[in-house]
Amino acid sequence: MTAQERLEKVAQEISKCQKCDLAYGRTHTVPGEGPADARLMFVGEGPGFHEDRQGRPFVGAAGKLLEELLGSIGLSREEVFIANVIKCRPPGNRDPSQEELKACKPYLDRQIEIIRPRVLVTLGRFSMARYFSGTTISRIHGQAKRFGGMWVIPVFHPAAALHQPRYRPALEEDFQKIAELLERAGELVDEPSVEETPQQLTLF
Ligand code: URA
Repeated sequence: MTAQERLEKVAQEISKCQKCDLAYGRTHTVPGEGPADARLMFVGEGPGFHEDRQGRPFVGAAGKLLEELLGSIGLSREEVFIANVIKCRPPGNRDPSQEELKACKPYLDRQIEIIRPRVLVTLGRFSMARYFSGTTISRIHGQAKRFGGMWVIPVFHPAAALHQPRYRPALEEDFQKIAELLERAGELVDEPSVEETPQQLTLF
């Protein structure tokens, strides 16, 4: 089975998922989308109103800003994989519960395992919590850390920058760091285990 076919199989399983109560309120599941060989992967929180209607991630206002930010580093959304920690919309866009996060986790685990991106960007705190605990996004946004074969870099959620414009400059700067990381990750193609510290990027 190709990587694309494996991703489609995961999406099909998600479409029938009944592992938590979000299954009863959804219009569509939102598994995520993008090429199976994407070097860059984004992980947001969960579908909102428009995503639930269309079955696609980041198609509302936050998605428009994400596309702009991608454009600022010469990329389009078709070149990256965009997913969420939660595949169904929580009612009224409330925060996902611990049970919902737990039920949904294996799907994202499998997607990451199949795609094996060079750089994974966490958008917002729920996605950040997969990799970083005991800290806040304000403290560590833009700081990349190596996990296995990939760099993980937490950034503010685009929706946060829409609601609070003071976050926007940080988000724009962090996208420049993503571009730098991608460039450097390209040099690591045949040395996935090399623990390199890119200059100008703070690691901890
Ligand atoms: N916000 C998210 O976190 N994910 C989406 O898909 C859309 C908005």
